[in-house]
Amino acid sequence: MKPLPRFIWCIFDGLRRDMITPDIAPRLRAFIDGGCDFPASRCAFPSVTRVNAAAMACGAAPGITGVVANALFDPNVFSDKLMQTSLHDHMVQAEQAYDGRFVTAPSLGDILADHGLKVAIVSSGSAGATHLLNPRAAQLGHVRLSLSDWRASTPADYAAEVLRRFGPIPPGATPNVARIQLQTDIVLDAVLPEVAPDVLIVWFSDPDSTYHYCGIGSPESVAAIRNADAQFGRLLDHRAQAADSAECQIIVCSDHGLITAREKIEVKQHMRDAGIRIGDSFLNNNAVAGNTGYCAALRMAAYDDASMRDLVNWLLEQPWCGPVFTPGGNGVLGGIAGTLDRALLALTHARTPEVYYVMAAEDTPDRWGRPGSCCFSGEAIPVGGATHGGLHPIEMNNLLAMGGTAFRQNYESPWPASHTDIVPTMLASFGIRSPDSVTGRALTEAYAQAAIDPAPPQSVTHTSETRTRRQHLKLWHVGATTYVDCGWTERA
Ligand SMILES: [Zn+2]
Repeated sequence: MKPLPRFIWCIFDGLRRDMITPDIAPRLRAFIDGGCDFPASRCAFPSVTRVNAAAMACGAAPGITGVVANALFDPNVFSDKLMQTSLHDHMVQAEQAYDGRFVTAPSLGDILADHGLKVAIVSSGSAGATHLLNPRAAQLGHVRLSLSDWRASTPADYAAEVLRRFGPIPPGATPNVARIQLQTDIVLDAVLPEVAPDVLIVWFSDPDSTYHYCGIGSPESVAAIRNADAQFGRLLDHRAQAADSAECQIIVCSDHGLITAREKIEVKQHMRDAGIRIGDSFLNNNAVAGNTGYCAALRMAAYDDASMRDLVNWLLEQPWCGPVFTPGGNGVLGGIAGTLDRALLALTHARTPEVYYVMAAEDTPDRWGRPGSCCFSGEAIPVGGATHGGLHPIEMNNLLAMGGTAFRQNYESPWPASHTDIVPTMLASFGIRSPDSVTGRALTEAYAQAAIDPAPPQSVTHTSETRTRRQHLKLWHVGATTYVDCGWTERA
């Protein structure tokens, strides 16, 4: 039997903290309560999956990784359409366009490889999310297995052997029960005994996709969490039975939360009706290119005040529009009156679209009583399904907890934290200095030995207003690390 990894890192896509109850997720609940919990954890903005996958893998803000939206117009990759970061083919194209450095910060895999250590990944998330957890896995010789699109798996010979032994992979479903069970079989019966990684990352696609299509509190979503929890329990049992279980630390997180998709707005059509020339590219004389979902990232064809002002002033008048962010301001107030500066979001990069907005969100519960809902647009989900990407506290407040001999037991950290703090925490445990690209902090308050309390957290709320609306963005600062807490809009 090979030694256990130093860290097993389990990611539950989209899991909301309020649904980790003894009834729905008994193994996870007991693990969190017995270990070290970070109830004030926040994900990166926008609270979408691939932005957060890259951020957590690099321990860095989106402005450092360069993965700043799930879907965006980047003419370096495609001149005629949006890049969808979930898709294997699009990620291959993006890596070619950027000479294999689409992600512009070293990830955990790169950093560990420099020290002769290796990461293995087994994921049922999208091929793009799986890729972004270790973008250079193939060059590094690290194992990365992608159950949603096996073409994203590497090394090819090992992936082919695993598929021959364990395949065929069950079709994706909501809940994704059979596929996630097979994923756990592959972890327990192939990767752990054969690969012996120093860090194992297991990404469960549920409950995110089930939340999206069936609703937050739906029986399907509850079943999805129960299944993911049971598979997590199998990992815990495997570790408990190993002779070296004390050497293996467990970290769990979710990449973001979700809220209910309450009202669908045809944003692109409304924009065109208002005379805004928007499309998926700058072809056909479009002035704006980008995705107009619940969270939108819009690139301007010409960086001239007039076209951006027309777009943003129209947005500020729409009753469904929440916080809007523009560049070119004073670092707090955006370049266009009534908005906040995009720089507050820690996502400024050469690839970053100019204008970000989030649609309105509120606390209204779904029909099962789960709070949080919003307007949405463009997604193939039903009214009453769920979405994410915005600044509602339930979306931003991701799961983060740790357990094992290295961490305090029965401890709740009162400090803000993030899954971008996981990589610097792991690196500190390996005795490796975090590279300058890392913006997260080692979670020193969680150490079982010689815990160090961080600086007191500082909270600041930034506000901008017009005659009819006021928008707010709340940030936390802990030492040099900044966390986006939440954002909201009030109307006169
Ligand atoms: Zn996600």
